[in-house]
This record gives sequence, C-alpha cells and structure tokens, in this order.
Amino acid sequence: MARLDILTYGFAFISDQGTFGFSSISLITQGYRKILIDTGPASRRQLLYKALESKNLSPEDIDTVILTHLHWDHCQNTDLFTNARILLHPRELDYARNPNAGDVNAAWYIAAMMDKMKAEPVSEGDSVADGISIIDTPGHTKGHISVVVEIDGETATVTGDALPDTGTIARGVPYNVFWDMKDARESVEKILDTSKIFYPGHDRPFRIEGQTTTHLHGPSQIEVVDSNEGGHATALAYRVDSHRRVNHDPVQKE
Ligand SMILES: [Zn+2]
Repeated sequence: MARLDILTYGFAFISDQGTFGFSSISLITQGYRKILIDTGPASRRQLLYKALESKNLSPEDIDTVILTHLHWDHCQNTDLFTNARILLHPRELDYARNPNAGDVNAAWYIAAMMDKMKAEPVSEGDSVADGISIIDTPGHTKGHISVVVEIDGETATVTGDALPDTGTIARGVPYNVFWDMKDARESVEKILDTSKIFYPGHDRPFRIEGQTTTHLHGPSQIEVVDSNEGGHATALAYRVDSHRRVNHDPVQKE
C-alpha cells in the first residue's frame, strides 16, 4: 500500500512584483520505494530539504522523480536527485526545447538539465510501481502527465497543472493553457473521471463529493516577512481573486 505525503503545498499566489511559483511536491512511499512527484522552484529548495529531513530522508534516498511537466516552478530542484530515475513524457522534453513563444514558464536550460540526469520516458498506462501509474494529460503543455495512485483502497490523482486548483473544475479548463484548448478540456474531464481525490499543482489536496469540493489538509495561513533591517518596510495588501484572469495562449498542434 502506498502512502502519499505533501512535502510542499501548492498555492496560486501571484503579485504585482512577480509570481511565486509555489507548486506542490508530493512524496509517495511504498516499501523501500521513495517516489517524488515534481521538485518545485529553486525558491523552495530550503523548504524541500527541511520537508525531506522531517521524513528522515535526504535527496539521495529518492529513487524515482516523476515530473508532471517542465515548467520551472515544477522542476527546478530536479538536479538534487542524482540517484533517481527522472520520469517524464518525451513530448514534454520536446516542448521544453521548443516551447510556445508566449510561455515564459518553459526554458531551454530545463531541457539541458534533463540531459544531465537519468531521464527516462513514460506515458499513458505505464506503471511506476504497484498501484502507481501514469496518465497523459496534455493541453497545459504538450507532454503533461498526471499520476494515479491507490491509497488506502481509494484512488487519488496527482494532477500538476492539468488541474491546478479547484477553480479549474467550474471553468472546465486550467487558467493557463500553452498547448491546446481541446486537449486541456479533455484532460480535465479525464482526471475527474479517474478519481474523487486530487493533489493539484497550485492548491491544497481536495476531495469532490457531488457538487462539493472539500480541502483535505494544508496550511490555512502563511507568513510573509519583509526583512528590511533599516526599517521603512513595504506594506503588503492581500486580496483573494475569485475570478482569476485566464491565460489561454495555445499553439497550433502539428
Ligand atoms: Zn505549468
């Protein structure tokens, strides 16, 4: 039986000073297997070390890393996992090398990093371990994948940015689409058909029952500190945007 822990929770924070890129990082433990899904942005590297330490793990203990896709906020810390097989869809590597010109979250240096890692292709139907399998969920990017996991007799899906938050369910499509709108919509439907429990890229895990979504766990409050020692700290304004502006900039599929 697999166990699924969140090492860093995903949030959808943006600011007028740039985006935080706080994606979720999940750890699946199954016997001796230690499988990470996504590695997060460099800004959370210290937090990732701490989260691993809290499980008595170091990066060397991770045997497998699954990357949902190659946007920087989901994979910048992959270089830490030198012992791990890095599983990703071959079409995503191709996308990272030739991204949509409007997609500022993809970068050639990510593909270059994969060339130095033990990267291996995976796609729809591949089994990573007993009860842990891959489904193709393209649309957000060209080769996005999600991970279906059996936990405690229930199926949960780790969805990355194919279903980044609860808001995606009502919209039927993620707020960011850089590859194909039809694929993105079909991927959301496919994910919703797969399970009732979701571990999204930029939200806390949640369960769907009927029309109701319930967050399962994760911090309800976070702290922001201005470390300006000379005083005159900048004030912060906080608001919750319940109608996020979408960024749908798909490319024509070949
Ligand atoms: Zn993304």
